[in-house]
Amino acid sequence: RLVGSGAEGPDEEVIEAALRPKRLDDFVGQERVREQLGLVLHSALRRSRTPDHVLLSGGPGLGKTTLAMIIAAELGQPLRVSSGPAIERAGDLAAILSTLAEGEVLFLDEIHRMARPAEEMLYMAMEDFRVDVVVGKGPGATAIPLDIAPFTLVGATTRAGMLPGPLRDRFGFVAHMDFYGPEELEVIVRRSARLLDVKIADDAAAEVAGRSRGTPRIANRLLRRVRDFAEVRADGVVTAGLARAALELYEVDERGLDRLDRAVLRSLLATFGGGPVGLSTLAVSVGEEPETVEVVAEPFLVRQGLLARTPRGRIATPAAWTHLGLTPPPPPGD
Ligand code: ATP
Repeated sequence: RLVGSGAEGPDEEVIEAALRPKRLDDFVGQERVREQLGLVLHSALRRSRTPDHVLLSGGPGLGKTTLAMIIAAELGQPLRVSSGPAIERAGDLAAILSTLAEGEVLFLDEIHRMARPAEEMLYMAMEDFRVDVVVGKGPGATAIPLDIAPFTLVGATTRAGMLPGPLRDRFGFVAHMDFYGPEELEVIVRRSARLLDVKIADDAAAEVAGRSRGTPRIANRLLRRVRDFAEVRADGVVTAGLARAALELYEVDERGLDRLDRAVLRSLLATFGGGPVGLSTLAVSVGEEPETVEVVAEPFLVRQGLLARTPRGRIATPAAWTHLGLTPPPPPGD
């Protein structure tokens, strides 16, 4: 899991599961994806066929796992879960595929990280519901064809660009999940508060939503932090003032930037004079993996108009200097 993207511990996982919408109608936001997916699923149900394979692409915490579970629920099928990094050899994949029941939904998270031989096996499985299991090595090796039951693959990736073309092309439906708007996040915060039995004022829900980096997982996490704060420091009812104080304590600023976002920006400004600087140099300077910076921090900073990706590297925008209270250097030639 990427640092900063995943669940924080067992408690968080239990709560996350409890807060997950179970049906397409309960899924908040992503209007277009919901409508398109609804059509794919319901037409398959009408024809009593397994639907096309679905690829969900989008940043961490935007609801890919949730949607995979919803797809299975809408189809009335069990969901089998695995992930790219867990499939190290083609045999690992064959073991999963050969035990799928007809119609079952297979969710492969982080599908871009699957080993190459497994990926090639997956092409054939997706297209023909058949795999070739290779037995033996060298000249004596033989491929034994194996039929598998028709299934629906739901792949999830934070980096659709890293998927090889032949794999991407085999998904009949690709859903691009974008950051959520503040109103959508506000609905999610109020819904989660109701489920967790937390009393929260409307303006406090808006405050939490506005600082959630466009991400439902973060909205739910911040809700729990402001709940803790309101329980310990007040009577448990979350007001806007309490929400602001709690979020300040947890170093989430008014625009929703967290520690990593600010570290990246600060380094870009203070160490590299606003750029351009290469991704890996920037990542080293904040002590993170390039992928974490690229997938977790950057998309939000770009969306906020604080950072831009250029062919020469990352650069800060004038708004980034203002946001951190720094003075931009004079333009060259002055
Ligand atoms: P990752 O790739 O990091 O695993 P993900 O995209 O699979 O993330 P989920 O685990 O599906 O994200 O979602 C995180 C949490 O956010 C879930 O617990 C769920 O309750 C909530 N959530 C996500 N999308 C929605 C939504 N559209 N409406 C309501 N809650 C949502």
